[in-house]
Amino acid sequence: MSDDEPVAKRQRVNDGLTDSELYLDTINRSVLNFDFEPVCSITLTNQNIYVCLTCNAYLKGRGQGSPAFAHSINENHHVYMKFSNQQIYILPDGYIVSSRLLEDIRRCANPLYTKEQLSQFTDEKRIDALGNSFIPGLMGLYPVARTNYICVIMQLLSRVVPLRNLLLLESESYTEPLAYEVGLIIRKMWNSSSLKSTVSIHRLLSAISHLAGDRFGTVNYSDPADFLAWLLHQLNKALSSSMVHKVFQGKLILSESLVQAAIGERDKLKFDEVSVTSKSINFLFLTLDLPPKPVFTEANDNSIMAQVTLETLLKKYDGNTIQELPKQRRRYKLVSSPLYLVLNIKRTQQSHHLKDRNNTTVIFPQKLDLSSYLDEATGSQIYHIVANIVFESDEQNESEISYKIQVKSPHTNMWYEIWDTHVKVIEPEYLFLSETCIQLWEKEKRAKSSA
Ligand SMILES: [Zn+2]
Repeated sequence: MSDDEPVAKRQRVNDGLTDSELYLDTINRSVLNFDFEPVCSITLTNQNIYVCLTCNAYLKGRGQGSPAFAHSINENHHVYMKFSNQQIYILPDGYIVSSRLLEDIRRCANPLYTKEQLSQFTDEKRIDALGNSFIPGLMGLYPVARTNYICVIMQLLSRVVPLRNLLLLESESYTEPLAYEVGLIIRKMWNSSSLKSTVSIHRLLSAISHLAGDRFGTVNYSDPADFLAWLLHQLNKALSSSMVHKVFQGKLILSESLVQAAIGERDKLKFDEVSVTSKSINFLFLTLDLPPKPVFTEANDNSIMAQVTLETLLKKYDGNTIQELPKQRRRYKLVSSPLYLVLNIKRTQQSHHLKDRNNTTVIFPQKLDLSSYLDEATGSQIYHIVANIVFESDEQNESEISYKIQVKSPHTNMWYEIWDTHVKVIEPEYLFLSETCIQLWEKEKRAKSSA
């Protein structure tokens, strides 16, 4: 007899109540957590896994001799959910319970959405099984060790409405593990009947390490922009529709010229540009370079903060501003703007050396007009900032860093700051005080002309 075969399918009736009705009271919603990989805690196998709804044990089941079967007798715990299909069973008897009262539990493991639900999200607070409040879509993510850089990118993607909607509607059927796990986290983050106010990223980490090895690990912090670039590339391969390109892709012209030194009038040295080449480049985000950190004459006065405006940084893409490289000059000209503009403000040069970080403050508006960058702009070129990832260092311990994300609710226009599992309201006036690293800007939809 296989582990999975039911031993009995009839349920007994005691005092007018069925066993299942008696047992449903033993479910402890406040301990349930379906965010871990379904692996049996006894046999370490990952097939045919059930979760005990009384104590959250993950166990292989459910036939006679299986760990779940033994647990039901030894611990007197009787209600189990099968991970792969969210069917709920009474053990050791082995029959299925299909009560509507269990819908919140099934939905917590595998939230599904209809098209109608996508337009019904609000900022209304909900209460989880522990009594904590949360707002669907603004749920904190629980990192593992130093994976906070992954959490902020998941929060960022969750603000990209067309991508979010695609994942909410379709990701349950994805067979590619990374896209499935990204979709599952987004589906859990928007679940208004969630039993938990936070979502853990454990399962996503396994899918990432399977594809990326130790490039994006848990021991050392990685640059969230590197992770975003990698993730978008992977998602673009995995998603059938070209959603990643549809929302993030823009186009620019890169002109490169070689620079030659020559002797000009009155024996003065001059630099001539020769062999100018230009090529068209598709981008998924734009990198902005901060001006070099100023060297202060007064002995390293850290209280003097260098400042620059976002508009100044964006001039890199106006087609006129020159980027000087050894023996080379580059100009970038924006020719097509995306629906969602991601700006990567580069604070470190080589790899991720945080000690040499450029902490220049970037002053940015809430609304940005890119029409002057585009020669033949069609449609609106007005962008509104919807998310801002900021860098945070620990003053006591320089090696400990973290990232927070500030997001604007489309329902109330209020700003929230999400730092791992902590979510709080913030005033928009204070956004630029933190060291911004990655910004997400949404293009304004053109108002329909009233014909
Ligand atoms: Zn149990």
